[in-house]
Amino acid sequence: MELKDLQSILLPGIPEKRPLVIAGPCSAETEEQVLATARNLAAHGVRVFRAGIWKPRTRPGGFEGVGIEGLRWLQRVKAETGMYVATEVATERHVFEALKANIDMLWIGARTSANPFAMQELAGALRGVDIPVLVKNPVNPDIELWIGAIQRLYNAGLRRLGAIHRGFSIYDKTIYRNHPQWHIPIELRRRFPQLPLLCDPSHIGGKRELVGPLSQEAMDLGFDGLIVESHCTPDEAWSDKAQQVTPDVLNFILHTLVIRETTQTTESLAELRQQIDRLDDELLALMAKRLRISREIGQYKKEHSMPILQAKRYDEILSKRESQATEMGINPEFIKILLQAIHEESVHEQMKILNQ
Ligand code: PEP
Ligand code: MN
Repeated sequence: MELKDLQSILLPGIPEKRPLVIAGPCSAETEEQVLATARNLAAHGVRVFRAGIWKPRTRPGGFEGVGIEGLRWLQRVKAETGMYVATEVATERHVFEALKANIDMLWIGARTSANPFAMQELAGALRGVDIPVLVKNPVNPDIELWIGAIQRLYNAGLRRLGAIHRGFSIYDKTIYRNHPQWHIPIELRRRFPQLPLLCDPSHIGGKRELVGPLSQEAMDLGFDGLIVESHCTPDEAWSDKAQQVTPDVLNFILHTLVIRETTQTTESLAELRQQIDRLDDELLALMAKRLRISREIGQYKKEHSMPILQAKRYDEILSKRESQATEMGINPEFIKILLQAIHEESVHEQMKILNQ
């Protein structure tokens, strides 16, 4: 069996239907805050509670979590509300402490999944343990690193695995705290269709107002679940206060979500998809033709000892097509990226001819 054949049931009885909801504060702060939040979420029907006990902070000096003391609070949540409880682990010691405290589910944070040494250490600590583990995407947009992290756990025998999309760090400021780059989780789903995929709208958005729209987007893209930060008094939270919502607000968001069933396709949708398939066939045929001509040009350049890269010609192509795209109602940025990729491939083909 391989990771691609994984049929993962994360928690017995959950989810009965999309979305699987995991909610709770960014950090466990006090016993009162943990229990008040948990009771309120449970009253709204949330079945899985999250709270960070060990907090990875970008800079030292911030609140680094309450540590093992918080595990006892999670045990109380479990006993009083019947919810499953989940926390983040980043080291071998975290794993041992969490297992000792009968935590039901673990997640691995974005800073940890980016580190193969840490992932290998966690896989070793979890070897042979039957516990669900959710792996957040690494902070950098590298799908192989994300898959590698999941695979290390899989190779250690873990079968209740899932992935959490929490967005990616980019240097440029955008409206998001972490840029969603949806194509990356979509590619993960394409490669591993059986792997449960959750979205963390809180860490992607970084602000309350974005939790609802991002959750809807995730549902529209066929995600299985959501992990959302919820705090009884978000404005007083010790970490990530701008992105936490009260249990009542979360409940409202969940009730306004429109869940479109992924397996249903109407006839008109099937018809439109056929059209897309036909157009893709044409695009590929055109691409093959374009590359063939590029190779002929390459041959000509070789015979006449001309350089392959002709910057002026390339600039002309780009600027002409960008303005044409705008006129045609296509995003010029998209056309630029597309032409750059085509150009790169043409150069590559011509280099092959030159070296023959
Ligand atoms: C968290 O879930 O609170 C957390 C620290 O997330 P991330 O690893 O996605 O930053
Ligand atoms: Mn957080």
